[in-house]
Amino acid sequence: MLELAALKEFLEQPRRIVITTHHKPDGDAMGSSLGLYNYLIQQGHHAKVITPTDYPDFLAWMPGNGEVIIYTENTKESAELVANAELIFCLDFNTLSRINELGELVRASNAVKVMIDHHLEPEDFDDYRHWDINACASAQLVYDFIVNQLNNKQLINKDVATCLYTGIMTDSASFKLPNTTSGVHRIAADLIDLGAVNWHIHDLVYSNMSENRLRFLGHCLSNKLEVFPEFNTTLITVNREELEKYQVETGDTEGIVNYGLSLEGVRLTAFIVERKDKVKLSLRSKGEFPANEICKKYFNGGGHRNAAGGESTDSLEQVINKFKLILPEYKKLLIQ
Ligand code: 5GP
Ligand code: MN
Repeated sequence: MLELAALKEFLEQPRRIVITTHHKPDGDAMGSSLGLYNYLIQQGHHAKVITPTDYPDFLAWMPGNGEVIIYTENTKESAELVANAELIFCLDFNTLSRINELGELVRASNAVKVMIDHHLEPEDFDDYRHWDINACASAQLVYDFIVNQLNNKQLINKDVATCLYTGIMTDSASFKLPNTTSGVHRIAADLIDLGAVNWHIHDLVYSNMSENRLRFLGHCLSNKLEVFPEFNTTLITVNREELEKYQVETGDTEGIVNYGLSLEGVRLTAFIVERKDKVKLSLRSKGEFPANEICKKYFNGGGHRNAAGGESTDSLEQVINKFKLILPEYKKLLIQ
């Protein structure tokens, strides 16, 4: 592992830097990446954010968004940038499989690799790591990296503050998850002082639904919500025909899973969706219930205790049945 002092020294000269983040980037993935990007370009670095896939429109407004390269749409340019990079930041993920084909390119690159992340069980591919599972967002760790490790708070301008605020706001589910500590609120307040317009950011992310998306949400809640009172669990499932009917696009399903947890007494909820080539499962839980354990054990996935995900190549029906059959195993934890 590289010492912080060595990394600081390395960053004293302009470098060719790639910043990358996980498959189907969320608000924290984009917020932490573009926050770091807007910080680095002020120091004359040649920095590029490369995402493994596209990301939703409600995230495509942050400062620097126009410079983002999407790997699947620019494979050659991305591969060249990764191969020629001197430094690669890996933000909001910790296993190279989370960035698809880009993962092996990053592994093969001679660049110094820096992981900034808050997920469990990191793979060992990095040279320097700022990793803390108690952080509510990777954007919080980027703030800490800039302010407390690099001692460069003066370089948090409005653009940096806006992106980092977005990451913290989205990954803490608007400051309501248990890891939203007083420290997180202090950082958020600091970012507001530094130029983040909190109410406007909230509007840009959350008040921009298309009519299709709003109607699709209504469909999920009216027609697709199953409640299992004996397990304090809810489930919403969506098949491919429904995705087509409502013209569901990247990001349109984001957040639907949380509604299942808003029913009184519910401790576990699942959202299972049939994508083109696989079935994707999202779990959310309350308190000590280990949603990540279910994803890891049964659905090739992982994540945080209260927000986890996984996938399967089985049919939608099989995945739904598997989920239902798992519930009795966790009954004790669910009915506490
Ligand atoms: P979401 O349900 O929003 O897709 O994901 C919630 C969290 O679960 C993510 O932040 C990520 O940590 C984790 N996660 C989601 N899908 C996967 C997956 O396929 N594999 C792993 N390891 N983690 C996942
Ligand atoms: Mn995150």
